[in-house]
Amino acid sequence: MKLNIAVISGDGIGPEIVTEAEKVLERVLEKHGHSITYHDVYMGGCSIDRFGVPLTDEAVSIARSCSAVLMGSIGGDANTSPWYRLPPEKRPEAGLLRIRKELGLFANLRPAYLFPELADSCPLADKNGKARNFDLIIVRELTGGLYFGARHTEEKDGIVTAVDTAVYRDTEIRRIARTAFEAARRRRGKVTSVDKANVLDTSRLWRRVVAETAEEYPDVTLENMLVDNCAMQLVREPEQFDVILTGNMFGDILSDEASMITGSIGMLSSASLNETSFGLYEPSHGSAPDIAGKDLANPIATILSAAMMLRYSFDLQQEADEIERAVRAALSDGYRTADLLPKNPDEAAALHLVRCSEMGSVIAERI
Ligand code: NAD
Repeated sequence: MKLNIAVISGDGIGPEIVTEAEKVLERVLEKHGHSITYHDVYMGGCSIDRFGVPLTDEAVSIARSCSAVLMGSIGGDANTSPWYRLPPEKRPEAGLLRIRKELGLFANLRPAYLFPELADSCPLADKNGKARNFDLIIVRELTGGLYFGARHTEEKDGIVTAVDTAVYRDTEIRRIARTAFEAARRRRGKVTSVDKANVLDTSRLWRRVVAETAEEYPDVTLENMLVDNCAMQLVREPEQFDVILTGNMFGDILSDEASMITGSIGMLSSASLNETSFGLYEPSHGSAPDIAGKDLANPIATILSAAMMLRYSFDLQQEADEIERAVRAALSDGYRTADLLPKNPDEAAALHLVRCSEMGSVIAERI
């Protein structure tokens, strides 16, 4: 197979982690007789520096001409970077919001599971003091809700008022609900739909449309949960969840919480899909400006995102499995980037501390 993919290395640690994902991809694809062509796309701060905008029309059309997009991360330090002195629509994140909209990427899938090798990094223990054993996926609606509604700030009679608008259409809710029910069918058959239906109209519509959609999936169990309870349940008993279905803002917050209980934010991959097999694959974390350029980042979330790309956009299941197994093998053999080291110095001393570039090589060697 010939794979044509757009690559957004982005800002901060983006170029470092993408290089490692490419290393691993090339190894597995070569082994199975496939070829890959990368098309570089500028987005975020690097695009602002080069073209004055976070995403150009040309960048969008390059991405559109490919079968998938692999991305690192975009953005900088909001307190010090000149990008954040620009108006909001010209800042790095505007590029990401635009590409999601332009490519119709409405479904964001974020798996969160605990590698047994990293059980000690999980901040949660069960009531017997043992490591947790959870495996869930968050299905987040990505192109509607509060992040896409009209907003403005105005000053009148000395009082400054800011307004954001949350909008959801039944069609948008039904579409993402189907993604979640389909995912549940391939997993353990349970969807937990998360909303704030005791307060918000958008949530009441959400709950009604999800219930209607559930009738198409009698083999899947549906439960509803309020978002505040879900935030609590994720740290109390994450094992209860299989597929969490939620809107844009709630999903943003809950998926960061879920990433932390996996041990490190550097482990969590994500896929953003449209109605075809096209997807944008990126780690769930940001551009980590505090460690950028130091070869300290954990590239595993990006490597696992590349595996998701092979699985969802190219249907290369075996190749994706091999990447996931190689990650597991590297961890089993004791390789850790700094973020994965246990706090206990004796336990840490028994492991191999590696840099970002070494972790990529160690994983590639295990394919
Ligand atoms: P962040 O995820 O970049 O960093 C939070 C903390 O986690 C930092 O201490 C960082 O060093 C650490 N960290 C993150 N990824 C890591 C990795 N792979 N290996 C080791 N440590 C890692 O979040 P932030 O600091 O809030 O945001 C920084 C920038 O990233 C901001 O401009 C933000 O807007 C942007 N951002 C981009 C995306 C994206 O590109 N999709 C997502 C979230 C945040």
